[in-house]
Amino acid sequence: MKKILMIGGGISGQAAAQLATALDIECCIVNDTECAGAKLSEIFSGVDLVVVSPGVTGNSRLLQYAVAEKFEVISELEFGIRHFPGKLLAVTGTNGKTTTVELTEFLLKKLQVNAVAAGNIGLGLAAVAAGIIRGEFTDAEKMVAVLEVSSFQLEHTQKIPALAAVLLNVESDHINRYAGGLSEYRAVKERIFNAVPEDKRFYGMSMTGQKYSCGFEILNDTLYFQGKTLLDLHKTALAAEHNQENLLAALSLVASVVPLATRLNELTNALQEFKTGDHRISPVAEINGVKYIDDSKATNPAAVIAAVKSLEKMPCKNIVLIAGGLDKDMDFTPLATLTGYLKKVIVYGRCGSKVAGVFTDEVPVFDAKTDFALAVREAAATAIAGDTVLLSPAAASMDMFKDYKERGNVFAQLVRALPQ
Ligand code: ADP
Repeated sequence: MKKILMIGGGISGQAAAQLATALDIECCIVNDTECAGAKLSEIFSGVDLVVVSPGVTGNSRLLQYAVAEKFEVISELEFGIRHFPGKLLAVTGTNGKTTTVELTEFLLKKLQVNAVAAGNIGLGLAAVAAGIIRGEFTDAEKMVAVLEVSSFQLEHTQKIPALAAVLLNVESDHINRYAGGLSEYRAVKERIFNAVPEDKRFYGMSMTGQKYSCGFEILNDTLYFQGKTLLDLHKTALAAEHNQENLLAALSLVASVVPLATRLNELTNALQEFKTGDHRISPVAEINGVKYIDDSKATNPAAVIAAVKSLEKMPCKNIVLIAGGLDKDMDFTPLATLTGYLKKVIVYGRCGSKVAGVFTDEVPVFDAKTDFALAVREAAATAIAGDTVLLSPAAASMDMFKDYKERGNVFAQLVRALPQ
């Protein structure tokens, strides 16, 4: 192979370029904006393989040309897989991917497995493979890459030959990308299992309705292994229902690499040390008896429902929800099931009025339009001691922020500046 054309830059483009360089293959990164008006036959001249970034959609003229001219088109993930000598575990789903991947990596490391979290989490597998070729890792064959895989990555990935894989859940999200709606989105997600042995294909407990897997079971917020009590989950950061789903998924993956029956003490110690990532139901401050929580990573309605239910077991109208942002043609109507929990909903951003439209008169709604600071001030003015102000937007951030991290950080700054 002599030349790779990478459509789309970003983290994936850079990762693919690193791998191409390590393999001594020429790599050209292109995008549709820069190539507008250019002669495509010239751009594709001498190209042996086309690697596509997850952000590139079917509307891309470059991608359409590559497909029409029958070039081999693969994702950066697949390019990485082809050159990664270690073992793979894979996680997809609408919500909980990062938490599950981070937990799996954390537990494996605690069990002395050389694990690395890669994929959608921010480190391209192609970059890991490049590092291995450059000699930066020892015992690369024994490495385990725990892959966070988005539906966008799966679109151009034929096979992930993982030891085990998880599909956590499928909820309304990214529908703007799939003409076939939710069923097409789900079919893309199911591709995670294409090359995984049948008995190593795991579904999240919200899909199976079962709280057990690989000898582990959760009953009344307690974790059991083969009937033996292991751990009260309230001693961990994973007691909430949605994190129980992530926990069981991570344990199924870990058990596919390490026989756990003789390692249960190490496992329970590690579980108590694990912390969930920033912007995921993360406490920011308590001011005048009001708790402020940053759940900026919740970019679809199902994630918001999980967050609200993790804060309150019983509905009691003491949550002030801040939601809105950039829609992905999502169905927000499930948010109406939160009515009993919500004192007020404060909407903002481009899809604010669509979110507001879901609620009846039973929940007062305030539209802060594009004034995010006003949204936070209004929440503070509404909440009284004992209430919780929850930023859990149900939508993407890019209408007003660089990403969900910036949105969460701005929220935290505004909260900390509130009068005490
Ligand atoms: P992802 O990487 O899929 O976006 P994260 O682990 O980063 O998922 O969690 C993002 C948000 O989704 C969390 O802040 C929480 O509100 C919600 N969440 C996490 N896990 C689940 C789950 N298993 N089911 C539903 N919602 C979840």
